Amino acid sequence: AASHKTPRDHIGPRQVRGALFSWVRPEPQSRPELLAVSPAAFKDLGLSLSEAKTDLFLQTAVGNHIWGWDETANAGEGYPWAQCYGGFQFGEWAGQLGDGRAISLFEATNPETRRRYEVQLKGAGITPYSRFADGKAVLRSSIREFVASEALNALRIPSTRALALSLLPDSKVRRETVEPGAIVVRMAESWIRLGSFDILRARGDRGLIRQLATYVAEDVFGGWDKLPARLDNVEKPEAASEPRRGVGKDEVEGPEGAEENRFARLYREIVRRNALTVAKWQAYGFMNGVLNTDNTSILGLSIDFGPFAFMDNFDPNYTPNHDDHFLRYSYRNQATIIWWNLVRLGEALGELLGAGPEVDNDFFVEKGVREDDAEKLVARAETIITQVGDEYKAVFYNEYKRLFTARLGLKTFKESDFDELFSGLLDTMEELELDFNLFYRRLSTLKTAEIATESERQDKAGRFFYKEGVTGKADEPEARRKVADWLEKWRLRVIEDWGDAEEAEEARIKAMKAVNPNFIPRGWILDEVIRRVEKEGERDVLNRVITMATHPFEDSWAGRTFDGIEYKGDVEEEHRW
Ligand code: AMP
Ligand code: MG
Ligand code: MG
Repeated sequence: AASHKTPRDHIGPRQVRGALFSWVRPEPQSRPELLAVSPAAFKDLGLSLSEAKTDLFLQTAVGNHIWGWDETANAGEGYPWAQCYGGFQFGEWAGQLGDGRAISLFEATNPETRRRYEVQLKGAGITPYSRFADGKAVLRSSIREFVASEALNALRIPSTRALALSLLPDSKVRRETVEPGAIVVRMAESWIRLGSFDILRARGDRGLIRQLATYVAEDVFGGWDKLPARLDNVEKPEAASEPRRGVGKDEVEGPEGAEENRFARLYREIVRRNALTVAKWQAYGFMNGVLNTDNTSILGLSIDFGPFAFMDNFDPNYTPNHDDHFLRYSYRNQATIIWWNLVRLGEALGELLGAGPEVDNDFFVEKGVREDDAEKLVARAETIITQVGDEYKAVFYNEYKRLFTARLGLKTFKESDFDELFSGLLDTMEELELDFNLFYRRLSTLKTAEIATESERQDKAGRFFYKEGVTGKADEPEARRKVADWLEKWRLRVIEDWGDAEEAEEARIKAMKAVNPNFIPRGWILDEVIRRVEKEGERDVLNRVITMATHPFEDSWAGRTFDGIEYKGDVEEEHRW
């Protein structure tokens, strides 16, 4: 439901009730400049890259032209909108938030993949959800989002996407200094967040919770039949998973337990997707930095790129957020915090989850549920939330294990690997301040024959895994021995899985390089790209960095052609490890 019927009215901060979005028109922009596009995102949207060269694309990419809408159309016919949501920020309820500087333009389906994306502008002006801010974005944060979201996608980590980045030289944005504005065209299969449910719960809008949950199941996930009744490797909750029909109010007060209905399956699917994503973040050392419920996607997408970072030297207590004094959003807490957020979702869905199979009888719609009954339902929902929580752990653990195994170049996982290889490696990395992603890439290139003897291992340990000048610890004999010891365990496990024939080594190295990136957008790399675009007026550096970010597993990019575009640049010389 939209908050009002006439598109142009009432833009400006306000509380919006009984609705989940408002019609909004982007601000007009003068003299916009298209800085860069992501060919990978064009392809996924099903859009030809030649479109990027047209003026129509640029005018659309900054909000001057509204695709599929003209002045005579009615609201809802192609008119842009901003979503209303709320959120728990740093564990505290923060009230209404919403798209304060994002405006959605349209949905488009790729005719080949049948994937549907909601395309939006970030930084296109104020909306009813801008609160006291300006609805704008600066170049610095826009470059960071543009590169990072595409990099995550290329690392096979679910993420919102970035299609294009434009500069607005005439738009003055006041931050610490006055800076030019920028707009990122972004897309996602859904921008709905856990906070979209939180706001309805806070307002007691039970009807709209049900409507939103139904929309998510039917429209975003493609139907109730797509939602899992149980997950792998988890005990099935003892309950009828077949919906029962024709039951009345007595059933609501009926036996305690975890009878499942379709809303429980929806909850499980949202939980499952987030478990997979957070496992991937952990495996690749990505930290969002602000994992509030408004920054947690119902699709498990990495969403909202603020102070995010990729791990450099391994430090599980690291948080990229300078305001995160209690390390709530540190690397080691991410899985716990995402679950905390998902419990809030469980509570918002509580009445629906706890109702048992009878909700499939359109119980709420036909008979209504009184408030005190609703409380009982919420209490019963706790059983389901607890069960799904066990599934969350199992899914997380399995995915993390799978990725860790692949990153170490093993074909199989043995229980003993966890202590001997995984934990041992992370402890060593932490203690010796080894670079997290660099370690795996270097390891990928190592042949077991090169580390067959103790002195060879010591030699590799001392020189191989360090960025020059970053740490001196490797030269200490004690440190060197720790890495060498770990290398020996790894060597034996690799030979156990692959044998030591030359072809096997080559196959293993190839497999490892396909999961261990040679490029990730580290903070200092992004800083340099930003500096060169802002201060030196460079443009091509953006094309080079987006090429690397979207092809992270290459040995080298020079002279290669990607998506029909030849990579010609020097960034790989500067930024390859
Ligand atoms: P975030 O910290 O990015 O999750 O943002 C929290 C809330 O502030 C969201 O509702 C954003 O839409 C809003 N917000 C952040 N920056 C701006 C801005 N420059 N203009 C308007 N709203 C903003
Ligand atoms: Mg946010
Ligand atoms: Mg943000």
